[in-house]
Amino acid sequence: MRKFLLAAAAALLATQAAAQPSTPPKLLVVISVDQFSADLWDEYRPHFTSGLARFEAGTAFRNGYQSHAATETCPGHSTLLTGDHPATTGIVANTWLDQRVTRSDKYVYCAENEQAPGTSSTSYKVSDQHLRVATLGDRMKAAWPTSRNVAVSGKDRAAVMMSGHHPDQRWYWDGKRFSTDVPGAREPRSVTLANAAIQQLLAAPGQPLQPTPYCLGKAQPITLEGSGKVVGNGTLARAAGDPAGFRASPAIDGSTLAIAAGLVQEMKLGRGATPDILSISLSATDYVGHTYGPGGQEMCLQLTELDREIGDFLRFLDGTGVDYELVLSADHGGLDIPERLRLRGVADAARVDPALSATAVGKKLAQQLGLSGPVLIGEYSGDIYIDSALKATDRARVLKEALATYRVHPQVAAALSRDQIAKTAMPTGNPVGWTLLERARASYDAERSGDIILFLKPHIMPIPNPTTYVATHGSPWDYDRRVPILFWRRGQAPAAPEDVIETTDIMPTLAALIGLPVPANSVDGHCLSAVAPCTVIR
Ligand SMILES: [Zn+2]
Repeated sequence: MRKFLLAAAAALLATQAAAQPSTPPKLLVVISVDQFSADLWDEYRPHFTSGLARFEAGTAFRNGYQSHAATETCPGHSTLLTGDHPATTGIVANTWLDQRVTRSDKYVYCAENEQAPGTSSTSYKVSDQHLRVATLGDRMKAAWPTSRNVAVSGKDRAAVMMSGHHPDQRWYWDGKRFSTDVPGAREPRSVTLANAAIQQLLAAPGQPLQPTPYCLGKAQPITLEGSGKVVGNGTLARAAGDPAGFRASPAIDGSTLAIAAGLVQEMKLGRGATPDILSISLSATDYVGHTYGPGGQEMCLQLTELDREIGDFLRFLDGTGVDYELVLSADHGGLDIPERLRLRGVADAARVDPALSATAVGKKLAQQLGLSGPVLIGEYSGDIYIDSALKATDRARVLKEALATYRVHPQVAAALSRDQIAKTAMPTGNPVGWTLLERARASYDAERSGDIILFLKPHIMPIPNPTTYVATHGSPWDYDRRVPILFWRRGQAPAAPEDVIETTDIMPTLAALIGLPVPANSVDGHCLSAVAPCTVIR
């Protein structure tokens, strides 16, 4: 019997070994779908028929985690190809406050150079200077100078965080066209041609999309509290020359993929002596989520188009004959609008109490403590800063009273002080069980994080009056943390593990696949043996 079991185990091992192609892939294609929660993946998986259906034949982890608390675009993208949590990458938010900067705008955008004259956090010079670690592309170029590191995205911060410090090409939508921050980069012909085609696309109206029967089932108009805006049954049609409508439509993803395809062709990616990496971040899903919420017909239409667009792109890649490894994940998940959640039985869903704004709480505290100035700077959740112009003793009084004020509010789950978080050890192991303090620790940085980290209770939307944006993410709850992590390569055996893994595991896994040494314990993530021969890591 024992002999039989051993033989069976040996056969199984042989099958597993045979299931992985024996040579390293020539091209790594890493796609981030912005705001593509694992909830969306679980729901839509049976409805995908094209590009996103390909992962049924790959290794599809449905329990991936952006394990940290600050579930925003910049921190999330910074984990994908560095192998590190935001506490290590230094990218703790999309924007943080630095009261020491000399310009009048004290906010600092995650992907900017705030020393550049004449800039602000919203009108900035794109830069990678805040990213404290190397990306996989940076590591590949250090090991193999002929490897190419290329990124394309609808958002500059996504392209910067995925490609890092040494991109060969980096293109992102700047609101008008795809542009770059790479100094001296000659514009590739494919980018010039794509930009010209995009101008024509943008100048023409976008026709309403035809819903599939499944999407039609989700077409329920919902009137939003306060603004009276109606969402739920939109068709993603857009007016001619409307850049905001363009970026909240599948057209921006199609454009991003067209540029990616052009660069693959023009640069002959995957055909050199050493492997190349192509990072693509598709932003429309996020803008659709923010504009309409992720639970209505609009998101259904967006994901239907995304599936088709990724399918077209993968067929193009297949046509090149290059052996590529494909990974798809997300920077964070998302929360649906409370108005719809309540109709669907989530009774505790609500919009945040306007009295919880840092400005309102700060004003109240200033009166109470006899202080002047803003006292507190921040929004409705996340990083809250104490005015650095106050004396140290007053700052301590403000901290004590602010924590007390926040903690008694019925919509607040936790108000953590920076001291509490700094004293917490960096969490390891299964992120499902991490405490709120540990989640906060994984996206905490002593220089950049707030004096208070504020967490609203689950299903409290930190947008009191929905106008342009009606829904968002950024919480420490699993609807914002849990994302799919999907791998595919020709010849790989299909698997759908239920294991909980982290987005920080992607980098060491891809490094192992291409035989790039990453010293053990030098990054927060771990190589996934279901995908790569992890023994290569040393
Ligand atoms: Zn995002």
